[in-house]
Amino acid sequence: MLSREIYLKIARPRNTCAKCGAAIAAGGKHPSVLAVVPDDDDEAGAEPLREDFCEQCWPEVRERGYYGFWIARREPPKPDTRANKRERNAILLSYFDWLAQDAAANAQRLYVISHLLMKFQVFKWLRTDRDDETGAETVTFRNTATDEEVSVTATPPDEEAVAAIVDEINRYLDRGPDPEPAAPGAESGGAAASPD
Ligand SMILES: [Zn+2]
Repeated sequence: MLSREIYLKIARPRNTCAKCGAAIAAGGKHPSVLAVVPDDDDEAGAEPLREDFCEQCWPEVRERGYYGFWIARREPPKPDTRANKRERNAILLSYFDWLAQDAAANAQRLYVISHLLMKFQVFKWLRTDRDDETGAETVTFRNTATDEEVSVTATPPDEEAVAAIVDEINRYLDRGPDPEPAAPGAESGGAAASPD
């Protein structure tokens, strides 16, 4: 069982193939995996490892075991336009607010983004409430900028969904403050391509 906080550990995609070193960041798509960690690893070592591969190496790599597989979609690199931390937080927060307009449909995204916002110290965890009858958990944060309380339903996504959401967020941040983000659900998390 992977940690719920796996999405805080998934690295941004590398610019080169993990096997042959070929450049893969020039836009387009390439396969990415969460590599398998051996069973006898101790807790500390049991962190998933993201690896990115070029199309040439993939047929060989896919024979190995891995937790999850997905096709990463890359925007062409725009090194000077990546939002700084304050902009990033503002963009992420606006994305969160926008998704929260349909909280039920976007529960997994909201859960992941709320934890990223906590990591970035925009949200501060206040409490987790558990409904004794249904077992449903609600996590409540305080927005440190506005002092408002924000609650999300605890909906930890599976690994592939997390990877898809993290990539989606990175693409969103790479685009900068776009007033018309793509409709959520258009690229649903969890629907990672199967390795065949
Ligand atoms: Zn390669």
